[in-house]
Amino acid sequence: MIFRDLNLDENLVENLDGLGYKTLTPIQESSLKYSLEKRDLLARAQTGSGKTLAFCLPVINSLNKNKYRVQSLILAPTRELATQIAIAIREILRTTPNIKVLTLCGGVPYRPQVVSLEHEAHIVVGTAGRVLKHINEGNLKLENINSFVLDEADKMLDMGFFDDISKICSLLPKQRQTLLFSATFSNEIKNLALEFLNNPITIEIEDVE
Ligand code: ADP
Ligand code: MG
Repeated sequence: MIFRDLNLDENLVENLDGLGYKTLTPIQESSLKYSLEKRDLLARAQTGSGKTLAFCLPVINSLNKNKYRVQSLILAPTRELATQIAIAIREILRTTPNIKVLTLCGGVPYRPQVVSLEHEAHIVVGTAGRVLKHINEGNLKLENINSFVLDEADKMLDMGFFDDISKICSLLPKQRQTLLFSATFSNEIKNLALEFLNNPITIEIEDVE
């Protein structure tokens, strides 16, 4: 299957092609048909299988570009991973002007993030603790969020973020799409999914050597 078959914006397809994304990887092929229809996903696939694009395309597809409000929240375990996701989204959106992506991670100064939030963004990528702090202090408004991504959910739980993630989930609008990606399916992951995903499609891609 090729990206052109997905009924995405023509600009986006041409840019993906230019970036060397031509055929879909297995996780992309088995998830995008559901996620682009706004279904919730519980997806497992090994590292390097192309999960970033699998969650970025439905996130981008749900955005209203003309509305300068945070419409998508993506959580990752570390600052490095959040930064990589933000870079990947900006690359995918290179030919789609005026979409703002903001990273909100711990371990970097707080005040500049508050100032950036005052200028509004469409997509926030961050780590759970810092994102929750911005929510609690009223800097990050959640009411326009229509998609929520948990990337490397297993790693976030291993790092002790369960309570922060639960809190964030409980504050998000009930009407939203939630995409949970993980490299493993532990019982803890399944419990998180039961609690916070709405009738999800479960996808498991076999590891390849
Ligand atoms: P994961 O999050 O599953 O570990 P990534 O999303 O980081 O994997 O993707 C791994 C690599 O594969 C990246 O370099 C990415 O650019 C590349 N990639 C992803 N999807 C495709 C595709 N459809 N065609 C070619 N390369 C791809
Ligand atoms: Mg990844």
